[in-house]
Parts: sequence; structure tokens; C-alpha cells
Amino acid sequence: MSFPNGKKRVHKFSCTQCNFVYDPRVGNGDIPPNTPFESLPDSWVCPKCGAKLIDFKKKYEVVDIDL
Ligand SMILES: [Zn+2]
Repeated sequence: MSFPNGKKRVHKFSCTQCNFVYDPRVGNGDIPPNTPFESLPDSWVCPKCGAKLIDFKKKYEVVDIDL
């Protein structure tokens, strides 16, 4: 069953240090799936190189997440 407002289109973000890609559909570590990059806690760092949120940049690629 799907609802018109049940999904949100968000961007993937990539680490400028190591090119790790944060996929909002998947989440990462303690971050559950369907978490937009903008909702990550300030304490979150790149799992590969430890870069901070500000070291990530928005990719053109978008994905639909479940709300
Ligand atoms: Zn990184």
C-alpha cells in the first residue's frame, strides 16, 4: 500500500575526502534507513575516513525514502 505523502525525494551525499557515498535509503551504522542527510546528528562522521558533515557535498543523484 502506498500513500501520496509516504515518500520523500532526497539527495545522496558524498565525502569529499574519500568519496564514501551516504545513501539515505540505507542509513549507516547507528543511523536507521530512510534518514535524510540533513537529519544526521552533528556528531556523525564519515565511516571510512572520519570526515565531518561539512566535508560532504550533495550529489546530483536523488533517491526516494519512506517517511
Ligand atoms: Zn570520507
